[in-house]
Amino acid sequence: MKNHFIVGLFALSWSLQAHATDYYVSPSGDDSNDGSLGTPFLSIRKAIETAKPGTTIFLREGTYRPKPSEVMRKGAEGVYDCVYDLTSNGSSESPIVISGYPGENATIDLSDVKPDARVIGFHVKSDYWHLRDFDIIGIQVTQTGHTQSINVALFGGNNCIIERVNMHDGMGIGVYATRGKNNLVLNCDAYNNYDPVSENGKGGNCDGFGFHMNNASFTGNVIRGCRAWRNSDDGFDLINNLAPVTIENCWAWENGYDADRISRGDGTGFKSGGYGMKQNVKAGENVPRNVVRNCIAWSNKEAGFYANHHLGGLDFHNNTSFRNKRNFNMVNRKSHKKAVDVDGYDHHLTNNLSYSPTMSGAHCVNIDTSSSTYVNNSFLPEISLNDSDFLSLDPSQLLYPRNEDGSLPDITFLKLKDNSKAAALKIGCQFSDSDDTASLNPTVESREDCSGNFYNLNGIPTISPSDGIYIHNRQKVMIP
Ligand code: CA
Ligand code: CA
Repeated sequence: MKNHFIVGLFALSWSLQAHATDYYVSPSGDDSNDGSLGTPFLSIRKAIETAKPGTTIFLREGTYRPKPSEVMRKGAEGVYDCVYDLTSNGSSESPIVISGYPGENATIDLSDVKPDARVIGFHVKSDYWHLRDFDIIGIQVTQTGHTQSINVALFGGNNCIIERVNMHDGMGIGVYATRGKNNLVLNCDAYNNYDPVSENGKGGNCDGFGFHMNNASFTGNVIRGCRAWRNSDDGFDLINNLAPVTIENCWAWENGYDADRISRGDGTGFKSGGYGMKQNVKAGENVPRNVVRNCIAWSNKEAGFYANHHLGGLDFHNNTSFRNKRNFNMVNRKSHKKAVDVDGYDHHLTNNLSYSPTMSGAHCVNIDTSSSTYVNNSFLPEISLNDSDFLSLDPSQLLYPRNEDGSLPDITFLKLKDNSKAAALKIGCQFSDSDDTASLNPTVESREDCSGNFYNLNGIPTISPSDGIYIHNRQKVMIP
């Protein structure tokens, strides 16, 4: 009896602590209301200003068109006007949530916000925010020089989640991050983003997702389950990034084109590094090893997967690349001081699949295989793929609706048939990259104990390995 009482008391105090008031917003609401389900607010700004840790702000069905007068902050970072400014912190037990109301569709249309400044939709500078289940459209660019607008800017908040937020048909980048740790972008779509206004409409800044952490301490950021298509620059871009970022289970296609498939900006599916080719490059001492795994790139204008003149090694595991100009381009820059292109060094490429690049033979170009781990990829001459290896080559499947929980649909596009040789070798995005690929230090193994395939460090299968270092079961092993 006593124990029950204590447990009950504990539960009561926990729920009092954890449960702040929820608020509701509706395009037919009123900001003089109390924000309850029956009498919702009109503006999302009002709900954000009223929220406490533990609050969920529900957006009811409809389209929200914030007026210029609703812009919460002007001149962030000196150049950005932020429609919604998230400055108060949630906590791990009590995040602050902005969520589409279950079963309804909420869209935020930023078309009316046209300051003489860059625009940010959501300026996230505080911790434990969770944005989910709504669309953002119509973000504007008004300046004609070098500029950019951003739908969701991660500018210093930690432990935030951006989930099932779709950012499309605007002039801005989808999600753009420069500061903050342990943020997760989950199951979001960014598409048809093109800025026709700045720099003569070349569209060179509109990426789907751009993570460019400006300090090595900003670790733990992950992009998972996201799709990026017809963004005028790149699908996913990690240029000028100083802390390792992981991109996994993501799809990128037809980037480098606008919504009408007219050629515009760079056009990379997954640009996983680099600092540009200026003489004094802004790169840290420890260049991060970004990870891209279990991703699909199809029909991007330039590379599917790109090292972008990076200054060190990158990880690419279990990715599938089809009909990009170059499916994998691993070019590196020689050094901080030498702005010279060299074949990519120190990369880890395992279990990647390339099929039918539009530039003849450009399966995996500009790689130094002797200094990279280059194992069990389909680019080996021993593995030749043709159409009959695949269950489907129909890219329209990429637009199949997502699963109930927001995860990507199960598609047969680019999936290997069971009888394909590449399937037996577990090549491509349908096979998960188990974490053992992260451990590439050689372990000692006796030849007699071994079963399965051995590869030499150039990725050539070896039937009876002699003394030396091989890849076996996706581990580096030493045979003494
Ligand atoms: Ca660009
Ligand atoms: Ca870019």
